[in-house]
Amino acid sequence: MVDMDKIVSLSKRRGFIFQSSEIYGGLGSAWDYGPLGVELKNNVKRLWWRDNVLLRDDMVGLDAAITMHPRVWEASGHLASFSDPFTGCLDCGRHYRADHVEEARKNSKWWQSLKELNDWPDVKKWVQSDKGGKKLAPNLPLVKNPDQIFQKMRGFGPNLTSVAGPDAHALPELQGLTDAMLLNIVADGSSVCPNCGGKLSDPKPASLMLKVGLGPVDETATQTYLRPETAQGIFVNFDNVLQASRKKLPFGIAQIGKAFRNEITPGNFTFRTREFEQMEIEFFVLPGTDEEWHQKWIDERFAWYPRYGIRKENIRLREHEKDELAHYAKRTADIEYLFPMGWSELEGIANRTDFDLKQHSEFSGKALEYFDEESKQKIVPYVIEPSAGADRSTLAFLVDAYHEEEVRGEKRVVLKFHPELAPIKIAVLPLLKKNDRIVETAKKLTADLRKRWYTVYDDTASIGRLYRRQDEVGTPFCITVDVQTVGDEKAPADEKVTIRDRNTMEQVRVSLPALEPVMEKLMAGKWVDVAQEHGIKKE
Ligand code: ATP
Repeated sequence: MVDMDKIVSLSKRRGFIFQSSEIYGGLGSAWDYGPLGVELKNNVKRLWWRDNVLLRDDMVGLDAAITMHPRVWEASGHLASFSDPFTGCLDCGRHYRADHVEEARKNSKWWQSLKELNDWPDVKKWVQSDKGGKKLAPNLPLVKNPDQIFQKMRGFGPNLTSVAGPDAHALPELQGLTDAMLLNIVADGSSVCPNCGGKLSDPKPASLMLKVGLGPVDETATQTYLRPETAQGIFVNFDNVLQASRKKLPFGIAQIGKAFRNEITPGNFTFRTREFEQMEIEFFVLPGTDEEWHQKWIDERFAWYPRYGIRKENIRLREHEKDELAHYAKRTADIEYLFPMGWSELEGIANRTDFDLKQHSEFSGKALEYFDEESKQKIVPYVIEPSAGADRSTLAFLVDAYHEEEVRGEKRVVLKFHPELAPIKIAVLPLLKKNDRIVETAKKLTADLRKRWYTVYDDTASIGRLYRRQDEVGTPFCITVDVQTVGDEKAPADEKVTIRDRNTMEQVRVSLPALEPVMEKLMAGKWVDVAQEHGIKKE
């Protein structure tokens, strides 16, 4: 698994993702998509929309406003309970989501280096060493008051100061301790900071809602919130969409748009930010059919990611435990991806029951119901919600595509994107940039291919360098135009170009009139068929 630093550095170098406001020192919780990043993310959103809306006759789309009436957030329950447990370090001041502290502590440098020690004399040395405890966890009770802690453990009197002496055997065997026991000893029973080992405050709920005042004068401005999810825009429009589209149950409304959460600890690159984009579906069904539809959507969404290249071993489903279910949910399953920092949520698929429609009916006074022709009754549909993150999906596709290989003794970095996701689909490369006929043919070819696929022209380096550059941004196909293509005084033009496949580095030579149908096959993943027809050679 590639580490995140490599992805962050490639993203910056090649124009996928930049730190927001970088020239001002950066804003840690926001990221900007560069020229290639915007193509990649747009492709993710386009494929999601195509597969979930355009290719289904039981779905329609919506694009609701980001700011909504403040009552929406009362009805939805967000004002009362959309919060995460917050804790802060009383020594270094770092903030944490209380439910993330354990994981962060396990991954911290101080815990990992402590775990590598063999015996208590080593621990004693670690505490005193400038590279050990003093540097890594200066506020850890063990580091601050080692004598007191050793004393406690051994039940000896207050005069004992050395553990490395003859009394060392009286301490519990270090290797025999469970993680929980070791933590309890070194932290002296308190909850400690993953950063410095200091004491953490008691967890308190912290609202994730970002306030906004609409209007020119602060005192009279309408106080509302930036939406923390796109879902509520769909629920409040349920009746509008129903009347306008005349859809029958079961049917869904899809929306892609920005959402905002005042996350306690944004981080892990674009995985957790305060501003992000969601791709959400609210799928309305007859009560009683909800469990079956929930399972169908779990299966459908789980199959979607591998369709565009995510390796099956890198995604899994995780069922929510009863005690972690949101207040509205009957059942929720998360699709998780093996990100560089470990398994983490990519998408949540919840059975939200009739909670939201009922709440908005009650708070707005407007019935949000469906007339069922069969039973001749008005009913409140149940809702299945597949809720995905556009930024998290983009990050997962980027991480999964990243490969390092060795080619003829040199490292090749290649992003093996599915052709539908690749930001650039084709690069046209002239073999000799001083040959006017080659350049002219290559530029004309670029302009022609651009009408169907995003194509770039590049003549700024040797062919080997140009191939590597395109590999590094995941361009699936390079086309070279050479002397044979355009002819010279020795031989007439053969009007053929060479297509090179990014993954295998194999090449085929194809005549210009056949190029477009061949490219069509290649984009559909039929390299083997094309190679059989046209014969292959290696780069
Ligand atoms: P987490 O447990 O990671 O905070 P969540 O369960 O609160 O996520 P949902 O409310 O289910 O997330 O939101 C649906 C999807 O929106 C998530 O699966 C994720 O892809 C995306 N998402 C949620 N919060 C963020 C965020 N802060 N940054 C980026 N994407 C996010």
